[in-house]
Amino acid sequence: RPPVVTIMGHVDHGKTRLLDAIRVTDVVKGEAGGITQHIGAYQVHHPVEGGVRELTFIDTPGHEAFTAMRARGAKVTDIAVLVVAADDGVKPQTIEALNHAQAADVPIVVAVNKVDKPGADPAKVRGQLTEYGLVAEEYGGTTMFVDVSAKAGTGLEELLDAILLTTDAALELLEDASVNAQGVAIEARLDKGRGAVATVLVQRGTLRTGDIVVAGSEWGRVRALIGDTGAQIKEAPPSLPVEVLGFNGTPEAGDRVAVVESEARAREITDYRERQKRDRLAARGAGSGAGRSLAEMMRELKEGAGRKEFPLVVKGDVQGSVEAIVGSLEKVGNDEVRARVLQSGVGAITESDVTLAQASGAVVVGFNVRAHKEAREAAERAGVEIRYYNIIYNLMDDVKDAMSGLLAPTLRETMLGNAQILEIFNVSKVGKIAGCRVTDGTIERGANVRLIRDGVVVHEGKLSQLKRFKDDAKEVVAGQECGMSFESYQDMRAGDVIECYRVEEIKRTL
Ligand code: GDP
Repeated sequence: RPPVVTIMGHVDHGKTRLLDAIRVTDVVKGEAGGITQHIGAYQVHHPVEGGVRELTFIDTPGHEAFTAMRARGAKVTDIAVLVVAADDGVKPQTIEALNHAQAADVPIVVAVNKVDKPGADPAKVRGQLTEYGLVAEEYGGTTMFVDVSAKAGTGLEELLDAILLTTDAALELLEDASVNAQGVAIEARLDKGRGAVATVLVQRGTLRTGDIVVAGSEWGRVRALIGDTGAQIKEAPPSLPVEVLGFNGTPEAGDRVAVVESEARAREITDYRERQKRDRLAARGAGSGAGRSLAEMMRELKEGAGRKEFPLVVKGDVQGSVEAIVGSLEKVGNDEVRARVLQSGVGAITESDVTLAQASGAVVVGFNVRAHKEAREAAERAGVEIRYYNIIYNLMDDVKDAMSGLLAPTLRETMLGNAQILEIFNVSKVGKIAGCRVTDGTIERGANVRLIRDGVVVHEGKLSQLKRFKDDAKEVVAGQECGMSFESYQDMRAGDVIECYRVEEIKRTL
């Protein structure tokens, strides 16, 4: 089947214009003079030796939509074209796009755009991307770089060639016409005249009018199929984008589409999915969703679920610390498991980071940065764990613990204060009470304590009572006197120092 291509890259590097330019040059439609419509994807025909081949382009450029789709469990894109403007070079979003494509394991072709511009330096782009593991074929690597100008329309044929070559080398896209059609809804909307309209990319089988289809929690009988030229077609083979009319409700982009044998079966499936959706919503507080927590990952590791990689998205306040973290993360691990940093960068945690984490089951780590409100909400919805650190050591420790499957509820001690025992009282029925003065900080009821005598810890335990005069006290601050007794310990003495601390589990999320 034809490859499905997504165009990605930095803003203003010409993604949209390139999509337009490729579409305009399409041999078949160009000849037919067909009017094109935007339905979320289009297909072009490219003459090759021995015939014509098709390529399908997703009409919404950028990695956000790509990863959002992936987060919903849909793998639509077969190959990514990374657009880099030759006059501007590699930019932050270029790298972000690259990370997203690599996290999805899709092969990449680089289109070096705007080569018509006076300041264009295509060689520099090749050099810059080498640093990120994309080495041009002409430099001995395996990535195809093609110089194009979306404006002048040059290099487009070569780009299509490169996409096909890369696809053929990396993927086996077999067309399987014998099965019931399956695919993905890439766009959907409610049309005033036509009802629910979903653009579907068939991935296996052939979709025909009259078929009963299920998409997410919607279903319908295909009333009509409309291609990207606006013409009605009878059947849609794999990778041909078509608008499907006849759904009872509007599916969501990313919903998987499948043909089923009967209306009864369609109802059964959609009812089940409805229920699942409700259950998921209900369980959200419990941290369900596609993203996983460190504890969950650890459990999977323990259960030997065969997880080899420990995916992370790392954001930090300055380049130096991000590099240090990524460098250290890359070093941890053994034969069975290793950390994989899907994306790293400077700045706040964004929605795009969260979507990537969700799509790849990763944890997001913020070092001296926080998540945007939208990102926080998205993480909550998707059940993606965001962890904040300000000490690299703690971060590394947690990751290492989780990786070795040893992440006990991570306990951390916070010192509350110290007190000195002035005198011991014997109280009938209660036992021994230590009369103390708080020397610094505070002593809190129920807190953990250590009894230190001559610099040696002689007892560790909990406070059973804390009193100010005759009354129970919640806390006693520095300078005040109080009475204390200990759970199952009586042998305290005047002069002992009482160290009071709290043991907490580390915050798992914000
Ligand atoms: P996008 O944000 O990546 O989708 O970028 P656009 O496709 O909107 O292009 C950004 C700007 O660059 C627009 O003004 C385009 O006309 C211009 N542009 C795109 N491709 C080329 C090109 O090949 N050559 C020149 N000179 N300008 C281009």
